Amino acid sequence: MTAPEATVSVLLPLPLAGAYDYRVPESLDAPPGSFVRVPLGPRTVTGVVWREGEGDVVAEKLRDIESVLPAPAMAKPMRDLVDWVAGYTLAARGTVLRMAMSVPAALEPARLETVLRRTGHDPDRLTPQRTAVLLALGDGAMTPTALAKAAGVGTGVVRGLVKAGALVPEQRRATSPWQQPDHARPGPNLSPPQAAAAAALIADVEARCFSASLLDGVTGSGKTEVYFEAIAAALAAGRQALVLLPEIALGAQWLARFAERFGAQPAQWHSDLGQTIRRDTWRAIAQGEVKVVVGARSALFLPFPDLGVIVVDEEHDASYKQDEGVTYNARDMAVVRARFESVPLVLASATPALETVHNVERGRYRRLALPDRHGVAELPEIAAVDLRRTPPSRGRWLSPPLVEAMEETLDRGEQALLFLNRRGYAPLTLCRSCGHRLECPNCSAWLVEHRLTHELRCHHCDHRIALPEECPACGSGDSLAACGPGIERLAEEVAVQFPDTRLAIMASDTVHGPEAAAALINTVIAGEIDILVGTQMVTKGHHFPALTLVGVVDADLGLAGGDLRAAERTFQLLFQVAGRAGRAERPGRVLLQTTAPEHPVMRALVAGDRDRFVASEMAERRAAGMPPFGRLAAIVVSSADAEAARAVAATLRRAAPDAKGVSVLGPAPAPLSLIRGRYRFRLLVSGGDSPPLQPYLAHWLGALKVPSAVRVQVDVDPYGFL
Ligand code: ADP
Ligand code: ZN
Ligand code: ZN
Repeated sequence: MTAPEATVSVLLPLPLAGAYDYRVPESLDAPPGSFVRVPLGPRTVTGVVWREGEGDVVAEKLRDIESVLPAPAMAKPMRDLVDWVAGYTLAARGTVLRMAMSVPAALEPARLETVLRRTGHDPDRLTPQRTAVLLALGDGAMTPTALAKAAGVGTGVVRGLVKAGALVPEQRRATSPWQQPDHARPGPNLSPPQAAAAAALIADVEARCFSASLLDGVTGSGKTEVYFEAIAAALAAGRQALVLLPEIALGAQWLARFAERFGAQPAQWHSDLGQTIRRDTWRAIAQGEVKVVVGARSALFLPFPDLGVIVVDEEHDASYKQDEGVTYNARDMAVVRARFESVPLVLASATPALETVHNVERGRYRRLALPDRHGVAELPEIAAVDLRRTPPSRGRWLSPPLVEAMEETLDRGEQALLFLNRRGYAPLTLCRSCGHRLECPNCSAWLVEHRLTHELRCHHCDHRIALPEECPACGSGDSLAACGPGIERLAEEVAVQFPDTRLAIMASDTVHGPEAAAALINTVIAGEIDILVGTQMVTKGHHFPALTLVGVVDADLGLAGGDLRAAERTFQLLFQVAGRAGRAERPGRVLLQTTAPEHPVMRALVAGDRDRFVASEMAERRAAGMPPFGRLAAIVVSSADAEAARAVAATLRRAAPDAKGVSVLGPAPAPLSLIRGRYRFRLLVSGGDSPPLQPYLAHWLGALKVPSAVRVQVDVDPYGFL
């Protein structure tokens, strides 16, 4: 009898739910978490040993693991997270695993570099240049290029010394460019509420225990300073820290503050990183060389071996929710990771999500409150401008009270910000002769005029056409009219109204990339801009000391459409924009142009009464059984063939099992019934507070046969309803 053979279950980063069993050859050691190369059909793929084999499989049938990669194994909390996210979002486990091994190149052995050392056998005859090289090198090791540069000579001199036997090449791992943040540098003296919040977090970091805390305070109350203390505690314990930010590309000021506090830059993680830096960063995190990472939502799946704390800043931000592929909310999954890692989680916001407020109210999260703005800065005074009583003149968008406030502000030498959350020149182009509207051929959406680039663009699929000279429907010349304002049109009006002012536009199509954003922000801070016109790009975390007036051009914009969270999001967005005013010594003022000053969102903003708004919104959600009091899942059925999609959606509806407390709405054509050439139908599943919907959905959808031309996507806890 032969000895029992070792087998393991290997999960592959492919859209598969299950793990496959493989045999472990005696020469290999592959404990759970190991990255391994295994055969799959004719291919070889990289996967992760998920657990020891069950042992009841006939071992002869199994194929062998080919090799174990030298990368650090995937830690247990990370594997647990993958399992958990898959179970929650109903995505295949392999698809979730792919997010946790997003940089396959990082699993390969680290790149080596050649460095030179002295042998001790210096040539008899030394030129001054050769002497300079030997002196520059000393007892150390340097790459040939670095050495030549340090000695101020050409690389030929260095090569000559190698040939002469005075220097010897040696391979070593490329030195890491990572600066180490210094936790011992002193932070500011914290106010008593700040100190209390920091102490609570530090205690949990030191005790290495899970906790979830809402750090609740207005913009400028010092939330960042407080969670910096928790990061310092993690660093002092030799551990790592992860900070999630909604728009990392805009985080230049955040990075500068971090560097000021800790004397070094953190590593960054976002979609704009190049392949090399992505690979090096991933590997350095896995090896524990990188201590602090600030990143967008995908940073949650980075391979930290020794996390000490997780921070989710602006936790209410909708960009934490991924709508495609694995539809996870990084904020919620951060809680799960923190629990598996046994570390504290900090959710920071001035306008917490109702889900978070609910979790505080039922005792799941702790609330750490920072009541005031730091120092002398006061919250701005917010007033509504009733557009029905003081409308702008025809074809204009700035009302007389707002224009007047701008004049006063500019006269005092201060800055104004106009906020309009609409890119481009005009959201709709219409033919005055025949009424034709210019629509995207691939989407049920209007084309948006971008005058700066002379084109019409679809904001859903990025289809672009040159602005036509004549109406494509009736052929009339000169009949196309721009309807409604976008940010470019608003800037045009400002330029006419305030001809001698320095004006800048801040929107994603006019400011490309983090550097450009930082440069623009710096010109505003330096006082080289008088009026800044911006989309939501201006709302995130920037601190403009001389900015004292914020004008919200269309405060009602986000309320249209009937989205479940429309009021909540509008409140959060406008509260955040308002927070841009008066962050330093000078008091700020905010004017909201609205046609509905009596709307609860406007009333709450004007009264500065966030908590009353939250309470009334919570009461409405509770009465309607909507989140956070009820559970929702959306099912989107899509296909290039409208009939095929409609048929699958109808079949799906008929197959919906009956379950107590669960109701299914739809199918109905989605509000955006066509995107990128695919027709879409939606169903909405709602259930009470418990039990979870996932078992119901899994049972229902698991039995469904879907033709390959049709896609069925499940979105648990949907944020988008289009
Ligand atoms: P938030 O994150 O809540 O918007 P910040 O942490 O950014 O607030 O603080 C706002 C400003 O006040 C920052 O410039 C910060 O450095 C400063 N600040 C906050 N607390 C203190 C403190 N205790 N001592 C000195 N400066 C502070
Ligand atoms: Zn026409
Ligand atoms: Zn389109």
